[in-house]
Amino acid sequence: MKIAVIGTGYVGLVTGVSLSILGHVVTCVGREEGKIDKINSGISPFYEPGLNELIQKMVEEKKLSATTDFLTVVKSSEVVIIAVGTPTVKGKIDLSAIKLVSRQIGQAIKNTPDYKVIVMKSTVVPSTTEKIVGPLVEKYSGKKIGEFGLCMNPEFLREGNAVEDAIGPDRIVIGCVDKKSGNEYAKVYVQVDCPKIFVNLRTAELTKYASNALLATMISYSNEMARIAEDMGGIDIVDVWKAVHLDRRLSPIVDRKKITPPFLSYIYSGCGYGGSCFPKDTKAIAAFAKSAGISSKIINAVIDVNSTQSERVLNLLKKSVGNLRGKKIALLGLSFKPDTDDMRESPSLFLIELLKKEGASIRATDPQAYEINKEMIDKSGIQYYSSVLDVLNGAEAAVIMTSWDEYKKIKPFTFRQYMKTPVVVDGRRIYNKNEFLKEGVLYCGIGLGPVK
Ligand code: NAD
Repeated sequence: MKIAVIGTGYVGLVTGVSLSILGHVVTCVGREEGKIDKINSGISPFYEPGLNELIQKMVEEKKLSATTDFLTVVKSSEVVIIAVGTPTVKGKIDLSAIKLVSRQIGQAIKNTPDYKVIVMKSTVVPSTTEKIVGPLVEKYSGKKIGEFGLCMNPEFLREGNAVEDAIGPDRIVIGCVDKKSGNEYAKVYVQVDCPKIFVNLRTAELTKYASNALLATMISYSNEMARIAEDMGGIDIVDVWKAVHLDRRLSPIVDRKKITPPFLSYIYSGCGYGGSCFPKDTKAIAAFAKSAGISSKIINAVIDVNSTQSERVLNLLKKSVGNLRGKKIALLGLSFKPDTDDMRESPSLFLIELLKKEGASIRATDPQAYEINKEMIDKSGIQYYSSVLDVLNGAEAAVIMTSWDEYKKIKPFTFRQYMKTPVVVDGRRIYNKNEFLKEGVLYCGIGLGPVK
């Protein structure tokens, strides 16, 4: 099938690549020439494991391309997928890109004779596809729903595992305005063997929020438990989660083997969630509920716990090194989670702001985040180092902000050898505290407090 994907961000590009792997001819439509040129020469504009190789292969096979020519591509496509950004602005979802693209799609399909399916893949609050996208496409195309199809297909990929998730999804939710739309769109995924759930548009829209809010809730719940452990003293939250995870309802025993579901990584304490989804989606659905007269007490509490989690990290730092003015504080990790260069709403950004207010001298490193966020990092007033050893050299405390695999391998000895004062605040609880204590490092962690 000929498919247009509007948006060349994480979702648009990964969707485009995965659909081209399925055999479709995909054109990603973007606005920035630089990005388009990169994609057409087989290079990903952002870091995502495995993505570069696949883009290169699909571009070479002429299954994937990118362009800024919206009109021509939409006119000649059978399926048009909307994957533009839906940020939360002033606490509410900003649908301006969705509205613009819907108008443009309407204009593009105005005089086309064939039946096209318009698909919403961006995360949007319930009723957006039905009440905003559909009517705008109708208005600008002069066609009625039925003459074109309308679907809402939420995306569940995880940055860092995006390629794997998009090629082998665990489910495909297809919200559709009518049967024909759903059946036509389902042809795109005919070869994919996973449950396909056909629902109405609103149900598909809410499914995405229910899914993200559940995971965000697990994180904030775990961090609330960590606060209890920390403030009581004498409790290590890591021991608590080890025992909780072993519940056979969470880790089932299959063929006498304990299975550890990836879901359990969300029931673990740390310095909070970030990224392009959980923060904006929890805020958007809470605001949407409020506007509909529904009180979302749980989601608001989830947001509240998360927004104050960086303060907990700051407090651990203060407890272990005292006044932070002029102190050299090294942050290990800037991206919101490992295996991505995405720093949107990363906890590291919130900690940097707090540390600035304390007058600390901030230095940081990250294996991937610098390239794409260079301008922001250079302007932020922190010192960036590309190597862990350089960032640790002479530092008076180190804070683990992202659980990159390479940070897990750093030995306590290295912290002691390079740092002026060996103090480690483990914001992700990736280390074995006993090994650090043996080495004479002051080790602090979320859900533990300082231990010597
Ligand atoms: P992104 O910011 O990385 O990319 C959005 C893209 O849309 C950008 O390339 C931007 O240039 C483009 N765009 C905006 N207006 C446009 C227009 N008028 N014409 C053409 N392109 C336009 O965002 P993302 O992370 O890819 O997310 C996109 C959507 O998918 C959001 O609704 C998000 O909530 C949702 N989502 C994201 C993820 C994720 O992990 N990133 C996962 C699932 C769902």
